[in-house]
Amino acid sequence: MNLAISAIEYIEGVKNGSFTVEEFIGKTLDHISKHDAVLHAFLSVNQNALEQARQIDKKIKSGDAIGSLYGMPISIKDNICVRGGKTTCASKMLQDYVSPYDATVVSKLKEQDAIIIGKTNLDEFAMGVATEFSAFGPSRNPWNTDCVPGGSSGGSAVSVAANECVVSLGSDTGGSVRNPASFCSIVGLKPTYGLVSRYGLVSYANSIEQIGPMGKTVKDVALVLNHIAGNDPNDNTTIAGRSQDYLEGLEVGIKGKKIGIIKEMCASEGLEKSVESAFWRAVSEFEGLGCKIEETSLDMVQFTVATYYVLTAAEAGSNLSRYDNLRYGYDLDMEGYEYKSYIAKARKQFGPEVTRRMILGGFVPSAGFAGKYLLKALKVKSKLTKQINAAFEKFDYLISPTVPILPFKFGEKIDDPLAMYLADINTITANLTGIPAISVPFEISNGLPIGIQIHANRLQEKQLLHAAYALESVTDLPEAPL
Ligand code: GLN
Repeated sequence: MNLAISAIEYIEGVKNGSFTVEEFIGKTLDHISKHDAVLHAFLSVNQNALEQARQIDKKIKSGDAIGSLYGMPISIKDNICVRGGKTTCASKMLQDYVSPYDATVVSKLKEQDAIIIGKTNLDEFAMGVATEFSAFGPSRNPWNTDCVPGGSSGGSAVSVAANECVVSLGSDTGGSVRNPASFCSIVGLKPTYGLVSRYGLVSYANSIEQIGPMGKTVKDVALVLNHIAGNDPNDNTTIAGRSQDYLEGLEVGIKGKKIGIIKEMCASEGLEKSVESAFWRAVSEFEGLGCKIEETSLDMVQFTVATYYVLTAAEAGSNLSRYDNLRYGYDLDMEGYEYKSYIAKARKQFGPEVTRRMILGGFVPSAGFAGKYLLKALKVKSKLTKQINAAFEKFDYLISPTVPILPFKFGEKIDDPLAMYLADINTITANLTGIPAISVPFEISNGLPIGIQIHANRLQEKQLLHAAYALESVTDLPEAPL
């Protein structure tokens, strides 16, 4: 039995009796024990997974109704609540927090008989691009364990790329699904804001973030999206509307479609040569697929990094102020402190990046500075949205490299926040404007993966997946070496 299979192949395999759920889950757990000491994709592994697998096998044997995911092992980023287990956000602040409920996306997957195989590592509270800010140690890139796997959903990407699960859920505030997908050579989708419920996702910057599927293939991502998308009474930012089948018609092709190359994302100073050449090769593949391609300028993109970090810090500062070690927390003796100094002491458990964001987040919306920072950032956001809307009047898709750089070595950027923030330049536009974007693995350059990013207009996930599928079909990439 091969663990390196897609979600679609997994379902086929169980249905036609090639393997039982118990066999697959058992082998997956062995594989995790063998490799995760080095890769560290998981912060916790479901101890009841084998028992759950047996129950599902029983249902299958006795012909009972069975959910359409057939016991598929799915990993979940550890900032998404799964009932009865820890949800740590890779933070010491929440190291003992046990979630009393399932996030909506998790209950939807469980209803379809998915097995939540474990909770994956991330940058603390999803702030970062490398998982180096996890309070419990980083994850490693299976393509080269000296390199970061991307972030913040690095553990999710590693778990998929290393066959420690079949698919995963991450969260994407500024690229956290797409960046590690690109760095680990898997597919990652950031859906339209409001398409997927955030209920049970620990908020970082809730006005722009979304939960997104990560898988080995575009089809797998479409399959998971089918199950998690939709209106949720527990999240009033979700969009009401008819649900779609994202798998249906996936192979239609993209002949005659118009594609815009976002100039500002393909000409930045920091764009590495190998990423640039992979991107232009992708452009000719799109031409070969029958698309018309043109360069287009979105000049607001040059201000997006500054804008994003102002807006997200302000939201993070507010969202994270609830962690005072009174309502949530860890063991810290209260003796000898008055209220404020106690909270100040308690918050020392936050790591350096979260601390930086909270300090910035207190400053940018404050009286006397809000006009200069927060309000200005909001203006850029709305101008950028106008430019994106105008671009989609002309183009069906907008493309760029997902990340301007290759996976880098541990420690290379950790002391240089600005360099780290610049890695987000191509991914944050989709978050600031609410549009969907996907990263598709395209090339392995000297053993390191490069992904291509495709954007589509709001709620055009179906069309977006058509383009992603078409691009995927002209690639032939190896498995991560393990
Ligand atoms: N790197 C970005 C940040 O640190 C994006 C993170 C994310 O998408 N959660 O904010």
